[in-house]
Amino acid sequence: MADARGWCPDLFTPMQSGDGWLIRLKPRLARITVRQAFAVAQVARASGNGLIDLTGRGNLQLRGLTPDTAEHAARQLVAAGLADPDPARERRRNLIVSPLMPAPAVAVAEALATTIECAAWLDALPAKFAFGVSAGRFPLADDQADLLVRPQGDTWRLFLGGHTRDASAAAVPAVALSMVRALPPTRRRPHAAPRAPRPIGPHVVGWHPEAGAFGFGLPFGQLDSGLLTRLASLAARDGDGLLHLTTWRAMLVAGIDPAAVPALRDALDGLVQDPGDPRLLVNACIGSAGCSSGKVDARADALALLRLGVRAPSIHVSGCAKGCAHPGPAALTLVGRGIRDGRGLYGLVRDGRAGDTALADGLDCMQLVGRLGRSADPS
Ligand code: SF4
Repeated sequence: MADARGWCPDLFTPMQSGDGWLIRLKPRLARITVRQAFAVAQVARASGNGLIDLTGRGNLQLRGLTPDTAEHAARQLVAAGLADPDPARERRRNLIVSPLMPAPAVAVAEALATTIECAAWLDALPAKFAFGVSAGRFPLADDQADLLVRPQGDTWRLFLGGHTRDASAAAVPAVALSMVRALPPTRRRPHAAPRAPRPIGPHVVGWHPEAGAFGFGLPFGQLDSGLLTRLASLAARDGDGLLHLTTWRAMLVAGIDPAAVPALRDALDGLVQDPGDPRLLVNACIGSAGCSSGKVDARADALALLRLGVRAPSIHVSGCAKGCAHPGPAALTLVGRGIRDGRGLYGLVRDGRAGDTALADGLDCMQLVGRLGRSADPS
């Protein structure tokens, strides 16, 4: 069991967090069956504290485990077909894909995943190095993967470190590995600039009639075992029996009859379904609710500030000055400093990062509202 930072947790390598140990599940091709979703929910409830994160790579993190329950959870999740039983193969499969890709892209991604799993020499890459396949109506951004594969007419184009190569579908895995092998070791590292975890993707949420799919955002990427069970039941009732995970803190259910959309909207009440929802603007880490460094309950305060009408083009509420949820600048950054009389206190940064010098400090939510003003329509 690893105990150092600067690496990535996975199913077999838990990481200690403020609310216990967490394990990360990397569903193959970013989709899980209803049966698998029920298994994840059951394991999260029985082995952890029931909380689950949908990460910026479309992975699922189960929280609040112990070293013993983490081992048990890993066995159950492997048995559910959610991970490779070989820890090395499972660790290597860092492949991000677009949701709802056309069949040819799915085939390319499948072949690439299998090749990555088998290439033991890839263990020398940094743990955060990511492969990506992007196709269809929800493409990945250029900076979401280190090596990115996109369709290019009748062929496929691979991008890595400023280099491009074209390949047939069958040749994509071999060309991808040769590009990585040709990269000087000093450049075999994830993007130098930290990728900002994306708030909920506005392009994903809502009804997509041409795809027969409905997307819904999970505020801060957080759900729990009860919600996951409910979502899986909806995918079985109204969809194709799969939950499609995205890298934008959102999921999609596909294969939906248009007549079922109103009932689905009702069933998803409380989640983000509208591209105008202000929760799309906000990044917030788990703060004191799940991190030992957290000075404030960042997510609860972020939602309170939105309810009170605080708006900005981008808002980052951070549990401390480390700024994990959004390493880049935001129009408005609030940095947790501590608690006074039960209320979180924040430093206020404009157009900057969590570690930047605050314009004002020690402000609680009401003082922040007084300083920042309310939008005319906080609904
Ligand atoms: S920003 Fe601070 S409180 Fe938030 S997750 Fe990172 S270390 Fe924890």
